[in-house]
Amino acid sequence: MGSRFSPFRLNGRSRFNSRLSLTGSTARGIPRLVAFWLTAHVTSVAASPCVVLEGNPVQGGVLWGQTAPDAEIRFAGIQVPVLNDGHFLLGLGRDIPATNELVVTTDDACAQEVKVAAREYRVQRIEGVPQQTVTPSDEHLDRIRRERETVRRAKAKRLGRDDGLRAVQGGFRWPVTGRISGVYGSQRIYNGTPGTPHYGVDVARPTGTPVLAPAAGEVTLAEPDLFYSGGTVILDHGYGLSSSFLHLSEVFVSVGDQLQPGELLGAIGATGRATGPHLDWRMSWFNQRIDPQLLVPPMPE
Ligand SMILES: [Zn+2]
Repeated sequence: MGSRFSPFRLNGRSRFNSRLSLTGSTARGIPRLVAFWLTAHVTSVAASPCVVLEGNPVQGGVLWGQTAPDAEIRFAGIQVPVLNDGHFLLGLGRDIPATNELVVTTDDACAQEVKVAAREYRVQRIEGVPQQTVTPSDEHLDRIRRERETVRRAKAKRLGRDDGLRAVQGGFRWPVTGRISGVYGSQRIYNGTPGTPHYGVDVARPTGTPVLAPAAGEVTLAEPDLFYSGGTVILDHGYGLSSSFLHLSEVFVSVGDQLQPGELLGAIGATGRATGPHLDWRMSWFNQRIDPQLLVPPMPE
């Protein structure tokens, strides 16, 4: 146990690393000899990464790696769950910085930088959504707060299944095919009022079109009518990775249902804040919003 946690070395390296990225090399006020040792030390850490990461290192992307099953991993302020075989996932949110620190603690502590490519997001103006969804009343604000808590609890479950990892490696399938009418990350302006960014990919199809599970998972939320998202299903793929399906006209599953890829979960609708029937498919890894479009093949013609 003593060597496993090595808190002194871990803390020391984290601090030196952040200093390195701030100033480029030596920190002000440190004697030259010590500064030289710090620089050499940090360089050797950077030259031999703790783990090899695979995947798409871009905002909205997902990475995976493998380490010892008993490793402790921290990334983006998150204690990262490690599967029994040592695999783990890292989600890269919409606005994640260009440089992030990954700390892996096994018998020893080890830190490496994870570089993430930035993306540019477009501005999308949406006219004609119900005005009450743009400027909600106090009563609606109460409801919104309650519903956010329900969603937060559903996403906090952190199921131990490996479907998310296998689907990230092998590919998700589109829950529905059709014209893409909205993309991940856009800054949205609703009826002239700036709103939160759009975190999903929108596929426009008529009301009633079947929506299928893009990968295996367990249903952790099945609500017929949330204020913003209308009929909503959350499917947990394991280890922090989940999919949400919004604006459904019908919800065919219940909390606790186990779905296989391609199983029916709901039907397209225009419930909640929507101007017409479409599926809004979102993904998240803990609090990091993922771009589902990076994990599926191109939309078929
Ligand atoms: Zn949408």
